[in-house]
Order: sequence, then structure tokens, then C-alpha cells
Amino acid sequence: MEQSPTKLSLTVKIFIGMIAGIIIGALLQAVTDDSGDLTFSVFGYPVSTYAVLVDGIFHVIGQIFINSLKMLVVPLVFVSLVCGIMNLSEPSKLGRLGGKSVLLYVGTTALAITLAIFMAIVVAPGEGTEFETELTYAAKEAPGIAQVFIDIFPDNPFKSFSEGKMLQVIVFAVLFGIAIAMSGESGKRLGSLFEDLNTVIMKLVTILMNLAPWGVFALMAKLFAKVDISEIINIAKYFFLVLVVLIIHATVSYSILLKLLTGLNPIILFRKMRDAALFAFSTASSSATLPVTMETATKKLGVNNSVASFTVPLGSTINMDGTAIMQGVATVFIAQYYQVDLSTGDYLMVVLTATLASVGTAGVPGVGLIMLAMVLNQVNLPVEGIALIIGVDRLLDMTRTAVNVTGDCMVACVVSNSENELDKKVFYDLDAGVKEEEVDFEQFERGSK
Ligand code: ASP
Repeated sequence: MEQSPTKLSLTVKIFIGMIAGIIIGALLQAVTDDSGDLTFSVFGYPVSTYAVLVDGIFHVIGQIFINSLKMLVVPLVFVSLVCGIMNLSEPSKLGRLGGKSVLLYVGTTALAITLAIFMAIVVAPGEGTEFETELTYAAKEAPGIAQVFIDIFPDNPFKSFSEGKMLQVIVFAVLFGIAIAMSGESGKRLGSLFEDLNTVIMKLVTILMNLAPWGVFALMAKLFAKVDISEIINIAKYFFLVLVVLIIHATVSYSILLKLLTGLNPIILFRKMRDAALFAFSTASSSATLPVTMETATKKLGVNNSVASFTVPLGSTINMDGTAIMQGVATVFIAQYYQVDLSTGDYLMVVLTATLASVGTAGVPGVGLIMLAMVLNQVNLPVEGIALIIGVDRLLDMTRTAVNVTGDCMVACVVSNSENELDKKVFYDLDAGVKEEEVDFEQFERGSK
């Protein structure tokens, strides 16, 4: 079949879906009447726009999209990590990979929150902020630090799979991969089955990515039909400060770190992160974005699967720089609002708690606020303060999730480069992985004949 000369790339299509969703959602919100709905009549029956479009069609398509991404996460992580581990050339490499990844993830998160606290002290977003609303926020219980470490080890792998406990899946996959590598002929046979499974699951990722423009459209349309943008005005200083720090960390800190540690050009990293960042932005979940982050790391950035399969899923769980930034600014904001002076020791406590808290919490929407409750508790600030910022949190969540996944890929590049497992040709090839993203659905028809 002849290719249309104006064929748009997947990134552009997703971007168009996102913008169209934002516009349609905002328009729907604008035309909605005071009672909160716009009704029209079909054969004399009143039909509600919200029921049909926002809570109906958009909600259903958006949820199906998120569910299909999540559906891939556990099989993808398990299979690709087993492949990665069984192909490790030397066993000691595993320890090095783990050590470097954790160090970089924890280090960048600590840097992110320190930067956030520093900027928030300078800008003082909470001074002079007044609210008329009564503040209430029921904090959900955050896990204790000891439990966080115990929970890394699964007592039942099937339970870990079904509950999507990523760190537990990682531990099981690592052990399983080691056992395959040590099992001689049986290991080889099973290993080649895993290699084939990996190819098929990656294909499934690209198939689903092709449906993303519609999924992203539906998610954005629903969100912008509901979100109350006026909330931003109340706490504009807080909102824009978090945004500015997120942008500084993603562009300046990551560029410096990548350049210093690998010599690679950061602009290329940012260009190649576009798909994953758009997914992260619209789903607000680094877990749901994981299939796309993995695809980006391996096919576009040239990170070898033996590193990517370990470092990227680990990052989607333990690396939340964007989240830490929100927590740093929020803590200072809440302290200023309640006129509580925090000491240097308190700030250090905030850095430590927020960094450790991000280890045990999955990358799902809104989890940053739950962790914030834990941070506030540590320094005796009122948890109700979260009610001040909750109204704008979804918008910030989307942005910080994009930063979180960019951090995952930056660290994956650094770790793989240090192990000589980064294919620089792929990294610098701007078209790498782009062709594979296009799914030839006719191939399916041909194949089934
Ligand atoms: N939504 C974020 C993520 O998935 C976590 C958060 O900041 O709430 O990475």
C-alpha cells in the first residue's frame, strides 16, 4: 500500500490527542450550566452531557487505556528482567548494577528535594496566603520504614504478581533469572522461551502505544471537563514554584548529571523522552507508563536490556524526583502557612523521610500526597495542611510523573554507559525505535491468512 506523504509520527498523534482532549474538556466545562450539567433533549428525554460524555464515553475509553497499560507491566517486568539477568555475563555485575542504580536514584531524589526546599525558602510561597475554607484532610496511613524493607521480599510470588508489587516481582525475577543461568540445558530451553516471550510482549507494547492518541484524548477530556482551574489562583505561588523547580531539575540537574557522568548530549535524551513523558503526563502514573519507558530506554536510547530490565522498573518504583520536589515545596509552604519555624535538622529530616518514603511506594496517581502526610508527621506539621494544596495536585501530579520517568531513563543511561552496555549509535540516531513504533496492522491480516 502506498504510504501517505503526510504520515504523522506517533508522538505527534499523541500530542494532538492530548491538546484536543484539553480543548474539548475545557469547552465542555465552559458550556456547562450552573447546576453543573448541560442537558439536551433526545426524543423528548433529557440527556446529560456529563453522563454521556465525561462520565460515560471519556471515562470508559480512558480507563480501558490505563488498564491495558497496567496489564502489561507485570508480565513485561518479569519476562524482560528474567532475560536480562540470565544473560548477564558475570554474576558480580548484578551487585554493581543494583548498587549504582539505587545510589543514583536515591542521590537524585535527595538532590531534587534539597533544591525544592531551598527554592521554597527563598520564594516563601506560604507567606501571606489566606484561605477561607475549613481545612480537613484525612491522611491515609503510610507504611513504616522497616515494613518498607520487609515488603521488598515476596512471600508468595503469585500474590506479588496479582497485586502488582513491583519490588517483589523484581526480587523474584532476579532469583529466577539466576537459577535459569545455573540450570544447564533445562535453563537454556526455558531461557529461549523467555526470549521469545519478551519479543512478543514488546510487540504488544507497541500495539497498545498505537492506540494511545485516543486513550490520551479521553483522559485529558475527562480531566479538563472536571478540573477546577480557579484553584490555581488561590495558591498560584505554590503551584508555579513547584512547576519551576520541576523544570529546573529536569532540564538543568539531569543535563549536568548526564553530561558529567557519561559525556552524552542531554538534548538527545529529552528529544527521545517525548513519548514516555506524554504518557506519564496523561496517566499521572510512572507504573502505567513503564512499558513505554522500557521501550524508550531499550529501543531509542540504546540501553542494553540487561541493564534496562533491572534499572527502569526499579526506578518506576523507587525513583520519584518530581514527587520529592512537590513534597519539599509543600512542606515549606505548609510550615509558612501555619507559621511554624523549621530548623535545619527538621529540613534534613524532611529530605531523609521523603527520599526513603519514595522507595516503598508505587508510582500511581496521587501517591505523593500520601507520602507527604508521612513527611509532615515527621516534623510535627499539621497533616490537614494537605487540604491547602490538594485542589491543584492532579495537575502537578501529571507534570511530576513526567519528571519521574525522565529521571528513570537518565539513570538507566548513566548505569548502562558505566557498564559499557549503552549503544551510542542508537542513542545518537534520532530515528532509532521510531519505525518499530509503527504497527503494520495489515501484517496481522496477512499473517492470519
Ligand atoms: N504519580 C506519581 C508517579 O506515578 C507519584 C506521585 O507523585 O504521586 O510517579
